[in-house]
Amino acid sequence: MDLKQYIKDVPDFPEPGILFRDITPLLADGVAWSTTIERMREAVAPLRPDYLVGMESRGFIFAAALAVQLGVGFVPVRKPGKLPRAAFSQDYALEYRTDRLEVHQDCFAAVPGGRVVVVDDVIATGGTAKATVDLIRQAGGTLVGFCFLVELGFLQGRTVLPKVPVISLVHY
Ligand code: AMP
Repeated sequence: MDLKQYIKDVPDFPEPGILFRDITPLLADGVAWSTTIERMREAVAPLRPDYLVGMESRGFIFAAALAVQLGVGFVPVRKPGKLPRAAFSQDYALEYRTDRLEVHQDCFAAVPGGRVVVVDDVIATGGTAKATVDLIRQAGGTLVGFCFLVELGFLQGRTVLPKVPVISLVHY
């Protein structure tokens, strides 16, 4: 099954010059969506994670579904001011803006030093994933890999990431 067929290109969204890769048609197709999570499960299981970390908002969709399939914990990395308890913060630069991400300080309390895989829909410049790595370090997790549905290879995002496996299912 060619998952690329379920990802729609949207020129000039959310700003002029950005070619947005819209994954909502893939989510809406039951076979494409379940195939996506099954392929992620096959690729991520050998990394033996204790936790999947997903970034708000679309990372939640993939990380939560995959965590259930793997029987491991899900940790949300959130936009500023959303978490109710003590949090670590990290500023980062996106392809088309800057922002900040936060995670609960005790997010890995159930398995201290636990093995962590970062999951998101798209890696573009890698800024979001890099900021998430910094949060995982602050919270005491052990980064063991990354899993993305889409990799925009021409932006070379994986070059800013630590040297652990980077899995992506669809490449542009
Ligand atoms: P980056 O930090 O540059 O790797 O950007 C990754 C985040 O921004 C991901 O969470 C994506 O959801 C979103 N994103 C960046 N560029 C695009 C794009 N061209 N199409 C869809 N989503 C994108």
